[in-house]
Order: sequence, then structure tokens, then C-alpha cells
Amino acid sequence: MADNQNTPLLKLSDINYDELSPMMRQYYDIKKDLPEAIVFYRLGDFYEMFFDDAIYVSRLLELALTRRDCGNNMRAPMCGVPFHSYQSYAQKLISSGLKVAICEQLEDPALTKGLVKRGIVNILTPGTATDFMGGEGDKDNNYLMSIYCIGSQFGIAAADISTGDFDATQLTFEANGEHLMNLIGRYRPSEILYNPAFESTPEYEVIRQGFTTSFTKRSDRSFDGDTVKKHKYVMQDIDKFYDPSMLLSACGAIAQYAEETKTGRVMYLNTVKCFVMSDTMELDYSTRTNLELTATIRSKSKRGSLLWAIDRTKTAMGGRLLRKWIEEPLVVTSLINSRLDAVEEAYDKYMARQEMIEALSGLYDIERLSGKVSLGSCNARDLISLRNSLAKIPFLIECSSQFKKGIFKQINKDLDPLQDIYELIDSGISEECPLTLKDGDIIKRGYSEECDELYEIATNAKQYILQLENSEKEKTGIKTLKISYNKVFGYYIEVPRSQADNVPDNYIRKQTLANNERYITPEIKVLEDKIVNASSKRVALEYELFNEIRIKVAAASERLFRTARAVALIDVISSLAQLASDENYCRPVVDNSEIIEIEAGRHPVVEKTLNDAAGFISNDTSLDENRRLMVLTGPNMAGKSTYMRQVAIITLMAQIGSFVPAKSARIGLVDHIFTRIGASDDISMGQSTFMVEMREVSYILKNATRRSLLLLDEVGRGTSTYDGLSIAWAVIEYIMDPNILYSRTIFATHYHELNQLSRICRGVFNNHVDVKENKDGVVFLHKIVDGGTSDSYGIEVARLAGVPNDVLLRSKSILGELERIGNFKVVGSTKVEDGVLMPSSDAMPGQESIFNPGNVVYRKEDKLRSAIRDVDITRITPLEAMNILYELVKITGEEDNGEN
Ligand code: ATP
Repeated sequence: MADNQNTPLLKLSDINYDELSPMMRQYYDIKKDLPEAIVFYRLGDFYEMFFDDAIYVSRLLELALTRRDCGNNMRAPMCGVPFHSYQSYAQKLISSGLKVAICEQLEDPALTKGLVKRGIVNILTPGTATDFMGGEGDKDNNYLMSIYCIGSQFGIAAADISTGDFDATQLTFEANGEHLMNLIGRYRPSEILYNPAFESTPEYEVIRQGFTTSFTKRSDRSFDGDTVKKHKYVMQDIDKFYDPSMLLSACGAIAQYAEETKTGRVMYLNTVKCFVMSDTMELDYSTRTNLELTATIRSKSKRGSLLWAIDRTKTAMGGRLLRKWIEEPLVVTSLINSRLDAVEEAYDKYMARQEMIEALSGLYDIERLSGKVSLGSCNARDLISLRNSLAKIPFLIECSSQFKKGIFKQINKDLDPLQDIYELIDSGISEECPLTLKDGDIIKRGYSEECDELYEIATNAKQYILQLENSEKEKTGIKTLKISYNKVFGYYIEVPRSQADNVPDNYIRKQTLANNERYITPEIKVLEDKIVNASSKRVALEYELFNEIRIKVAAASERLFRTARAVALIDVISSLAQLASDENYCRPVVDNSEIIEIEAGRHPVVEKTLNDAAGFISNDTSLDENRRLMVLTGPNMAGKSTYMRQVAIITLMAQIGSFVPAKSARIGLVDHIFTRIGASDDISMGQSTFMVEMREVSYILKNATRRSLLLLDEVGRGTSTYDGLSIAWAVIEYIMDPNILYSRTIFATHYHELNQLSRICRGVFNNHVDVKENKDGVVFLHKIVDGGTSDSYGIEVARLAGVPNDVLLRSKSILGELERIGNFKVVGSTKVEDGVLMPSSDAMPGQESIFNPGNVVYRKEDKLRSAIRDVDITRITPLEAMNILYELVKITGEEDNGEN
């Protein structure tokens, strides 16, 4: 019934429990324990929502809002979704950060008198909804994170329930907040569980505003480390921590939440990898964003990111692993080289690599399918997908065994043919199984004798009835006898009334019609019983057999996950080898030196997307003990940012174990890449550009080490020239102090004055981006060359950008004036004393006034213009002309005297 707009909608808080109908009381009892979740209440073929849930969801999903009697003449707002297609609706709600509790009928309504028992079977939350995953293209992890906070210390755990990935760490030293943000940037959790104390930390607000994550506050009690012990989780590398109690609490919260949301029977979610921040290269949030590692800054899409440019993986498992590698570059040379050895071998063996890539094609997501099997949420089609994937494993093993180097050794050990699991599914599950589990047709013929027999009876019912009809005709000699069926008394024998005297004694009369008599016999009832029950018995038996198979497959989940991870590794290695071969990359030397030596390096994304006919211009980089900080100058648009990002990306690629876009590269291990490039997202969070810039600089100076790589683009540009220049100067001095940082750095700037630092500061050297000037303007060569430059060509870039000609002419005239009067060209008027920038006193006074209203330049020009404008040369006398000339000279003289 359509909603009557005139009567107000009843809310849950308006109702009186005692007046509710029995069904609505049941709903109420279930809903009251789940105030935060939308309850999908199963009613026949629908999941219905009532009261506030219905009002909210009907608007969100544009569903028709109706009403249903709920007792004592009250009508509850209601909306519903069909049970067989609820997933897409639930998924939309979950994507909006909501939780959906699935309330099922726990008894068969056909066999129940009165109210059917109902209960919550699953709570889908952004971090635990695994039902919607497992497709071929799902290359993203879905992390549930928990943060346990005491003061400024944090225990952090992140688990992907669909794949069994489970990592944990704790931050009990300084700079915890920054590390916490970096971890959130790394995992990008879809849901964060936190304890109440976290709300009073400064990080809480920043995270809530900065990330589109769903937040779930949990009581301190649920952060119980004992849960981990109770579930016998294996805590890998926990001895990295002297007292791991905070980490255990965070893991406990995840275990408990998984249990509460009924994703808890996660037998495979049992190995937690404990890590410390220094285990991998730390990448802060702005660096991940600036380098566009997995998403672009502008559209936040994968297309245009580094991951997009280098991802040649064939499976969802491989795709996720490659993303993880990019998010967590290594910092141990032996581990990096072990990956590189494997990539190199795959690169060298072309034919074997192609075979391996072929073997990977069409593999389903074994990891997530196994996860579903373990969770008990798989259907028969999932098992068929799993079987089809397992069918390819023996060939993959054969291919992989041709490779012996680096991590291939471990891969080959971990690959399990899983033949027994393949055969089990293959023999048991029907190829044409439906999506549902309770409608039969899921078990293959030949798997169970009993099942086959029931199938036989159910499908051959007609045949049996026909046989019986014929034998009765023969027995009685009544040719017109026939067997029919009706709902009232099932199968019966119908005989014309004229033949009624010829029926045998065992015929029991049931009905007399005008022309016919209807009978039943004990024999027909036995057959009926068999036929009618065969179907339901078979459906029940098939479900039972399916569960048996599922449990057997789940028991092999350890082996399945190990193999899935080995497959993911093969995929990533062969993808990187293929990439290197397609794009002409080289194997980098990665060692413990402090050198970055890149010959003819390229930016992997820009070179792919460039429309320029000249193509991407490669560039060299050489940072070492004596060339530690490059001051990079050059015009706007010359390619400074691209160059800096390219150095960072080549370094990062080398440390994930990938070949790199260069002719040769030597990368001395980098522990942390810091970037301060471009405007940050924080601007939308109410901070000025300059404030954001300075916060980032402050973070970098506090956290960088001698091993870090720093990329600083135009530090200081957000404020006045002198302030900015002074800050930039001091920042370089600070970085280059061997007792403080001495990090490898590229410092791009338009403050050409900074070039002077190369003369006074050890380790600082100058490079600039070359341009060529011709009659049409400037040509950007994108080539990094030795030495500094003092030209910015800003006006040229403004011209290219289409700034109106009048403005360009005017700015040229101002620039000429400024350079002529020398006030603004700081280069000429700056002296360096003891390494400190000292703007000369004569440069200061005029500088500001040039741009103020009523400044000298404007006044002089205006006065001159107005003095000349009114002169009519054809009418004035020579004397008047002399006087005008005198006036003009006087005005010009005003400027020379500095008068207004
Ligand atoms: P600004 O100082 O204005 O920020 P920039 O010097 O940082 O400019 P980039 O943004 O790095 O300039 O580059 C501008 C454009 O030049 C890029 O979008 C790219 O199209 C092109 N470009 C940069 N580097 C190269 C290169 N090495 N080869 C070819 N084209 C390049």
C-alpha cells in the first residue's frame, strides 16, 4: 500500500512495546541491540526494514516507502528489497559507511506454527563485508583497522578478513601521530575501530576530516589481548617488541569484532604479522599522494598513477600484492635483491615467462574464494570457480619450476598442486549449479548413491505414474482408467461410473462425480510419498553434502592460502619482468651506499601519457657524498617537478624489487622519501597554503635521517619574497649540516639567489633545466644541466597560458622597470656573510612600494601620460611647447629624487 502522505511517519521512539504485534515485538527486540545498524528483517521473499531504518533507507536507495500494521491500529513505515538480490542494496548502504544486519528466518515457515524464530546471522560493515568480493577484477584489499590508544601511544592492527592478511604494530615512541597517519595512508582502511581515549588525541580530528573511512567506537573491554590467546593466533615476529601488550589489544578488538559480526569463524585469520615502522620504507601521506603512487591527486583514480603505469598483473591476487609492494618498499638490500634476482630471471627467460603469464590468465581470486569457503559464505559456483583455478595450478607449477633464482626458491616450495581439493570439488559439485544453495542441483550425479536415487525418482515421477496406470488398466481390464493428481487427496485413480463395479477390492473410494468415481490404493500412496518427498529430501541431502565438501575444502585453507600467495608472487614477478621488457627498463644496483646514480632516467607515468612528438627527455641524476643537495632552478613548466618525482619513483621502484625506467641506476638504500611538492589536500581542511607548506617542512626536518631522500619544491614560495628566500636558505643549511641531517635532497626553486649556497655550503650543487629562446618565445628542452640560472620566464609561461596581451605587456614593462631600478633584483644586491643571507640595505626601501597603490612607477607614468594626453601639437606655440617639456622633465626628475 502506498504511503499516506498525510499521517506522520511513526518512529521507533514513538511506539509502545506492549501494543506491538508479536512479529513487531520480535523485530523490536532484535533492533534494540543494533541501534547503529540497518536491520534487514527477512519476511518471505523480502528483507524488510521498518520505522527509522525504513524512512532513512527508502530515501537513500529511492525505495517505495509503505506501511504495515504493527499492532493496535498503528502502522509502521516499511520498505523492502528482494532477498535474492539484496547484495547490491546492502553494498550501497555499506559504501555509504553504514552497517547492515541480516536477520534471517531460523525455522522453515512451512513447518512452523505461529511466529517463525528469527536471528541475526551476519552483520555487514565496511570493514567486514566479504560477501561482495571474489571477482576477477578485485585488485584492492579491504582493511579493517583497529587503533588502541593510551595517551600518545598506539596499538594498531589491520586485517583484510576476505584474504586473511593480518598485520599489527605499536607506536610507543615519539612522532607517533605522524606514524599513525602514515599507516592509515598505507592501509586506507574502510573501517576503523577505536577506543574512547583516541577521541581526545589531535590525530582523531585530523583523521576524521581527512579520510572517508567509517569509524566505529568500541569499549575498552573489547580491546582485550586475551582474545588473541584464546583464539590461538600465531603472532609472527612478536619478539620485535619488548612489551607487545598494546598491539595485542588492537588485535583482540579485531578478533572480537569479527566474531560479533559473525565473520568470526575465520579459521584462517590466525597469523598476525607483527612489524615495526623501520621494517619498510616509510612513506608519509603527502608523499604517497604527491608521487601519485596508487591514485592521481586530481581525480583519485588509479588511471594515471604509478600503479596504473606498471601493473601488468593477470590476477586479483597479484594486483593486490603489487599494490602492497608499492605501499611498502623494502629497506633490506638482501630482500630487495632476492626479488630483483627473480625478476631478472623472468626477464631473461622469455618463452618460460610467456608460458607462466598464460598459465595465470583466467585464474580466479583463490585467496578470496578460499576466504569465503572458510567463512562459510561461499556458494556452489564459488567452488566451481575455485576448482577451475586449481585446475591450472599443476601447469603453473611446471612453469614456475623453470625458474630457480631469488624468491622463486620460496615460491616453488609454497606451491601446492592441491589435487585432492580439485578432485573433491570436481567429483562433487555440479557444473550447472545455481547461485542458491537451498534449491538443489548443486551435487554432481555419481557423487552420492542416495542422492542419485532421489533424483531418479523425482525426475521420473511421470514415468512411474504411467507404469502404474498401465498395470492397473491391465489388472482391472478398464481401458479408460487413468491416474491424476489434485491438491486435496494427491494421486488418485479415476474410473467412469459405468465401470465402477469392475474395480478391485483394494480400491478405496474417495469421491463420486457425475460421470466418474475416484479411488486411492495403498500402492499409489506409497508411490506418491516417494515422489513428493524425493525432491525435498534430495534438496536437503544436496545441501548437507555441499556443506561436507565445503568443510573439507575449508580444512585445506592453510594450503590454499599459501598457494594463493605463491601465485600472487609469480604474478607480480612476471608482471614486473614483462613491464621491464615492454618499456625498456634496467635492473638497478641496490646497495648500502649513500649514492643515487641514475643514467638517462625517465618518469614512468609521464612518458606513457605524453603527447609531445619529441617524446620524454631522459635525465641523469648524481647524488653522493659531495653532491648531496641539488639546487634545481629553471623556468616554470620546464620539468622540475617531473624530474624530482622521477628520482623518487625510480628509487621507490628499485626498493620494491622492480627494474627501473633508466639506462642504468645505482640506488643506495633510502629509508624514507619525503616530498614537499605542490598544494596539499589540507587546504580544504581550513589551513592556508603557506601553513600547510611549513607544517610539511617542519615534519620533514624533524623526521628525516641521513639515509632519507628529500624532494622539496619551491619551499618558501607561499610568503613574501624575503621571508620565503630566508626560510629556503636556512632550510638548506639545516639539511646540509652533517651533524644534523645531510640527507640526499633535490631542492627546486625560483630563488636563484640560492645558487650561491654551492659556494659556501658543502654538498650543495646547482643544476638547472635548459630552455632555448627563439623568435617565437621560449622552447622547453626539459634537459637538466649543470649550473644555476637566473631566468624564470614567468611571463612567457603566462603567455602560453593565454593571459591577455595587455597584461603581458604591462608585466614586461614592470619587470623591465624593476630590473632597471635594481630594487627588486635581489641577486645584485645580496651579500653573503658567514653563510647567512644579508639583503643589502639599499635594496629594501623601494621594493614594497612598487606594487602599492600610489607607488612611484604608477604616479610617474600616470602624470606623464596625463601631461601629454591634452597637448594639441597643431595649436601650441614654441614657448608653450618648451613649458610642457619642462614639466615632463620635472616629472621624470621626481622619480630620480625618490619623491612622490
Ligand atoms: P612549475 O615550476 O611551473 O611547477 P615545473 O618545472 O615543475 O613547472 P613540470 O610540471 O615538471 O614543470 O613539467 C611541465 C610539463 O612538462 C609536464 O606536464 C610534462 O608534460 C612536460 N615535461 C616535464 N618533464 C619532461 C621531460 N623530461 N620530457 C618531456 N616532457 C616533460
